[in-house]
Amino acid sequence: LTERLQQAIGKLKRKGKVSESDVNEVMREIRLALLEADVNFQVVKDFVKDVRKKATGAKVLESLTPAQQIVKIVNEQLTEVMGQEAVPLQKSEKIPTIIMMVGLQGAGKTTTLGKLALKLKNEQHARPLLIAGDVYRPAAIDQLQALGQQIEAPVFSLGTDVSPVEIVRQGLELAQEKKNDYVLIDTAGRLQIDQKLMDELKQITQLAHPDETLLTVDAMTGQNAVEVAKGFNEQLNITGVVLTKLDGDTRGGAALSIRAVTGKPIKFIGQGEKMTDLDVFYPDRMASRILGMGDMLTLIEKAQQDFDEKKAAEMQEKMRENSFDFNDFLDQMEQVQKMGPMDDLMKMIPGMANNPALKNFQIDEKQIAHIKAVVLSMTPQEREQPDILNPSRRRRIAGGSGRPIQEVNRMIKQFDQMKKMMSNISKGNLNGMEGLLGN
Ligand code: GDP
Ligand code: MG
Repeated sequence: LTERLQQAIGKLKRKGKVSESDVNEVMREIRLALLEADVNFQVVKDFVKDVRKKATGAKVLESLTPAQQIVKIVNEQLTEVMGQEAVPLQKSEKIPTIIMMVGLQGAGKTTTLGKLALKLKNEQHARPLLIAGDVYRPAAIDQLQALGQQIEAPVFSLGTDVSPVEIVRQGLELAQEKKNDYVLIDTAGRLQIDQKLMDELKQITQLAHPDETLLTVDAMTGQNAVEVAKGFNEQLNITGVVLTKLDGDTRGGAALSIRAVTGKPIKFIGQGEKMTDLDVFYPDRMASRILGMGDMLTLIEKAQQDFDEKKAAEMQEKMRENSFDFNDFLDQMEQVQKMGPMDDLMKMIPGMANNPALKNFQIDEKQIAHIKAVVLSMTPQEREQPDILNPSRRRRIAGGSGRPIQEVNRMIKQFDQMKKMMSNISKGNLNGMEGLLGN
């Protein structure tokens, strides 16, 4: 999706002046890109119609920056279709707040339940109880128990011989007694929606009256995820959706359609198998991600979670003020290094994934060591004022770090580009997006 949109927009941007037929072409590309990404046909139709209407209203053709205007409108419309604002989890006035996970087999219910419990523990110091309500596969109970152990949360199970409804009933009793503030119910899935499963889930619902019934869907299944969401929503009163496996072959398509088709908010996205890989779903960030602007804010949030919060806030401020220097660059490299798998992270940095200017800036561990060597060979003054890095200083740095002069030059150039992009993105400034969307 992203690539196709970027191409269309890139083409538009190379033209100074834009004609109506250019706009039509872009609209056609957008339509195709969405359909290709498995977005529901009706959703695409409405989307294109709305963008066109806004584009006409905003007098795009008469503006000085028609291409940017269109990007902005597409971005806003994507955000709107996905629900505008993040929707938080419900919290019941009386404890416990009850959250029930539903979805097809393999969608990620059990994993997400563990992630969610950990999030609640970390963010609210919650004391969740996990209920093992999937009695059809013994392995499912073991899996939940292993997760419970890993995140240090108790798991209630009665094995596979008791009905899920009875397990939930007893589990809730235990939660009352132990004064758990959250109860998370894991349920069974099937390969397809079937009536027996639905009836069982309805029975559990009638007994437990969950505050949240979260439908877990696999983003990689595209259009099918949307069908599943529709089916579950018609039978159970789901309160929200968790879109999992967005770390894989990211089909933004499902995110776009699900909200439109079910009217229910996507509340979280799963971005990996680890227990910390669950993020709040922000429609505007997803829109930017789809448009290829990267997901800087999520990255910053990750940094804040995983490391020094104060440092991350400072970094954000520096990006805003455009006073990001080589010391920060070094800091950031070190933080990024600590943050885990490079591939995941790089994809979130604006422009890293698709920007040709940065294509050869694929960071691996060794390269980080080289970058560090170069920065450490700079004087403190050079690190703070990169502008003074003239050729003779660069030669000295190359000698000191043992890196070729071309590499030093390239790195400084990349630093400049990164700095410029960061500053633009932190200001939410679409006019500065040439570096990302152009080329
Ligand atoms: P359930 O049958 O719905 O309970 O699904 P599980 O929670 O057992 O997950 C099925 C598989 O998907 C497991 O191997 C999980 O590790 C994996 N999985 C779940 N969520 C994610 C995610 O966000 N990203 C990735 N890459 N894998 C996930
Ligand atoms: Mg499961």
